[in-house]
Amino acid sequence: MVSNGHALLRQACDICAIAMSLVAYVINSLVNICLISTQNFFSLVLALWDAVTGPLWRMTDVVAAFLAHISSSAVAMAILLWTPCQLALELLASAARLLASCVVFHLTGLVLLACVLAVILIVLHPEQTLRLATQALSQLHARPSYHRLWEDIVRLTRLPLGLEAWRRVWSRSLQLASWPNRGGAPGAPQGGPRRVFSARIQPQDTPPEAEEEVIRTAPARGREQLNEDEPAAGQDPWKLLKEQEERKKCVICQDQSKTVLLLPCRHLCLCQACTEILMRHPVYHRNCPLCRRSILQTLNVYL
Ligand SMILES: [Zn+2]
Ligand SMILES: [Zn+2]
Repeated sequence: MVSNGHALLRQACDICAIAMSLVAYVINSLVNICLISTQNFFSLVLALWDAVTGPLWRMTDVVAAFLAHISSSAVAMAILLWTPCQLALELLASAARLLASCVVFHLTGLVLLACVLAVILIVLHPEQTLRLATQALSQLHARPSYHRLWEDIVRLTRLPLGLEAWRRVWSRSLQLASWPNRGGAPGAPQGGPRRVFSARIQPQDTPPEAEEEVIRTAPARGREQLNEDEPAAGQDPWKLLKEQEERKKCVICQDQSKTVLLLPCRHLCLCQACTEILMRHPVYHRNCPLCRRSILQTLNVYL
């Protein structure tokens, strides 16, 4: 009985050991399968990566080699081509210099030739040259621009360019610069140039500089002399005419005739040039020189 039980126990133990070894074998084989499959998977991934990136690397290598080849060949070409280009440029520069010197030489030669020809023509055929000159002059006279130019030259030569003229210009510019600031009685009657000169003689609040005083009193003195002559001017027609001419002149420059009517005061006392100078002042300085009313508009008057 005991031996039977012992044998049964041994058999059971054997069965258990066999079962456990079977289980261990199965687990071992499963783990092995897993490991091998992961190894295979990684090797597959690596092979795929190589297959994909290999051509790219090769292509970049090829492109880099190609670029290096191109750059080196470009450098070589530049080195090869620079010398002929430099030579060609130097050739062009020397040719241009030669051409310029030839042209200058030929120009001077042509001018000299023309001079020699003109002298020969004058010496050999004086009557023909005279005829040619008269023809050219008559053609020149036929053009209106020539007459205009000649008139301008004559007017320029007639200009009084002495010291006295410059002093007059200076005194007029001083008058122009100072008269808009000078206070005047509004609504004063129109007196023409006389009114302006009498205002100039009046003593002012602020004494001006000595030089300005001299310049201002000089025309005033002349005007006083004219006023002294006034009783006789009534009889002398020449002086009457002179007085009338004076009245027609602009009250500022005393030179041009009055051609601009100021509105709204309707004083006709300025010439075109003085009006233009006056209208360049600010609006609050654009006053009529006779009545001090502000000028809103100007009208050109043709007498
Ligand atoms: Zn004027
Ligand atoms: Zn006025």
